[in-house]
Amino acid sequence: MSAVIRVSSATELAVAQRNRLEKVFSAKHKGESVEFVYSIDKELIGGIIVIDGDKYYDGTMRSQLERLGTHFKLGENYVQAATPKRGKNKSPKKQENKRQHHDVPQHITADYIKETTEEELSQTVAQFNKKYRVRHAGRVEFCGDGVIMCSGLSKAEYGEMLYVENGAQAIALDLSEDHVGAIVLDDDDKVSAHMVVKTTGMIVSVPVGEKLLGRVVNPLGKAIDGLAEIKTDKFRPIENAAPAIKDRGKVNMPMLTGLIAVDSMIPIGRGQRELIIGDRQTGKTSIAVDTILNQKGKDVICVYVAIGQKSSTVSNIYNTLTEHGAMDYTVIVSASAKDSAPLQYIAPYAGCAIAEEFMYAGKDVLIVYDDLSKHAVAYRAMSLLLKRPPGREAFPGDIFYLHSRLLERAAQLSPELGGGSITALPIVETLAGDISAYIPTNIISITDGQIYLESDLFNSGIRPAINVGLSVSRVGGSAQTNAMRKVSGKLRLDLSQYRELAAFSQFGADLDETTAASLEKGKRTTEIIKQDVHKPMRLEHQIILLYITIKDLIAHVPLAKISDFSNKFLKFLDVNHSEITDALFDGGEITMDVGIKIEEAINEFTQYFLKDGNNE
Ligand code: ATP
Ligand code: MG
Repeated sequence: MSAVIRVSSATELAVAQRNRLEKVFSAKHKGESVEFVYSIDKELIGGIIVIDGDKYYDGTMRSQLERLGTHFKLGENYVQAATPKRGKNKSPKKQENKRQHHDVPQHITADYIKETTEEELSQTVAQFNKKYRVRHAGRVEFCGDGVIMCSGLSKAEYGEMLYVENGAQAIALDLSEDHVGAIVLDDDDKVSAHMVVKTTGMIVSVPVGEKLLGRVVNPLGKAIDGLAEIKTDKFRPIENAAPAIKDRGKVNMPMLTGLIAVDSMIPIGRGQRELIIGDRQTGKTSIAVDTILNQKGKDVICVYVAIGQKSSTVSNIYNTLTEHGAMDYTVIVSASAKDSAPLQYIAPYAGCAIAEEFMYAGKDVLIVYDDLSKHAVAYRAMSLLLKRPPGREAFPGDIFYLHSRLLERAAQLSPELGGGSITALPIVETLAGDISAYIPTNIISITDGQIYLESDLFNSGIRPAINVGLSVSRVGGSAQTNAMRKVSGKLRLDLSQYRELAAFSQFGADLDETTAASLEKGKRTTEIIKQDVHKPMRLEHQIILLYITIKDLIAHVPLAKISDFSNKFLKFLDVNHSEITDALFDGGEITMDVGIKIEEAINEFTQYFLKDGNNE
């Protein structure tokens, strides 16, 4: 048997130091021939690292500084300290600790390596382990496609960040008896077989905080918008436990989308998770982007996470948000289709960490995951490369946990915790409208409702193409204002009646008068809830439009002119009767008085409108 012990130090070790070191480690390998390999690594700043089999003794200045909360740039990525020790009023004990950390380099050259009996030696080693971080190290046995298999990391934990010798970060995901499978987050060309990998006891972290607003970053927090590097000393681990039940508050504040169909019939509350689901090109992204646009001036921070999309699509979204002045309060996290599967896999967790920083600071946050089907596919690719057993549709067994642990992090915090919230809008793409496929059913069961979009509706010009019958919101209703609740209840009823009658009337049967009237009204209602992209509507305006629809005040307007009529009517109200919108502002009710005023205004406006030759 022979053992190889590798020693790296910041500066050349003196002969006496080497002798002492060799004595200690030779004693640990009694009866074996031991070879010592020395190397110099200036990045360690001070102190030594000893790698003995799968043990990694880290007594370096660099790791001590990491522990104190100082961040180092390794390669292009940041490393965060496990337990940052910051703050002004340090207790004497903490100060003592700090001094000890700084003393480390001297300790290393002093008496911890000395002549001892075996028993004393093991004690010394135990102390050494306590004082210096003993990490486990292994070797890369295989690498390719963003995945590495390592031997020797017997103590690695699930999800733990690993460092490869060249500074690349990896995440341990597959723990088996004789090897650990991990995914490499950086360029995997840089990693090759036989490199040393060590455990860190930490989870990958991303920079967070105000400095990210207005920026486009990759899932490791690196700017990819071509602007200046993001300099921040605030970091958060990408994986984090979801708030406990007792830490959660009631969902009772609305998260307005600005879309009349959603805010009336599928209301979303702050802290809710509402799925947007539909085939490709049905307007899923548009609903999410419109919701971001509608948060302008509402003191809500938005995070848009793009997973596996074309870079050009993300760039279009960035431009749209910039044009509407929405980037001021938005962060875009993007792992595009060309990025590796591991980067796509961590993107939503990184986005969520960025959102959490704001939530725990008491702010309201909206996060969009666009989309989780591509996320699941990236995870499947990684899992298959890691040789994990495939299950249904070749997804690994923990695919449900993949999304449940992500979406559970969205919450409304209790007032004691600052009352911040994360509202999540995950997006899922279906194939041929099949919402009973594996990933859609999983995510439907995790979220608090879904907005279901249909190609048929989209193609027939009903946009947003929301299927009102299959869309629900399980918690948002309590966040609706009274005025909205009043008008929307009737709206749902009218629409569902219309759908039934429309199917029936296709047989060409003679229709009696009431049926014909219901059909006519249904058509108008459908027309009113159509809305163009990037034109979010104020809540007061939505209420007024719905009020005139359910009260049949637009029966005389030709169907094709409805959208023109409603747009102009709202403008007319703003200019001539602002008292009506003012009365409905901020939760105002539709009182008798307001109702009469609306009717008077619409009579007045209709005259102008029809005079302009709009009565055809
Ligand atoms: P993909 O599957 O490619 O991600 P998607 O479902 O996210 O597509 P969008 O990109 O939002 O769909 O929209 C597709 C197209 O439909 C876009 O060109 C968009 O401008 C248009 N569109 C979406 N919603 C509306 C709307 N309400 N009115 C008019 N056009 C719309
Ligand atoms: Mg899209």
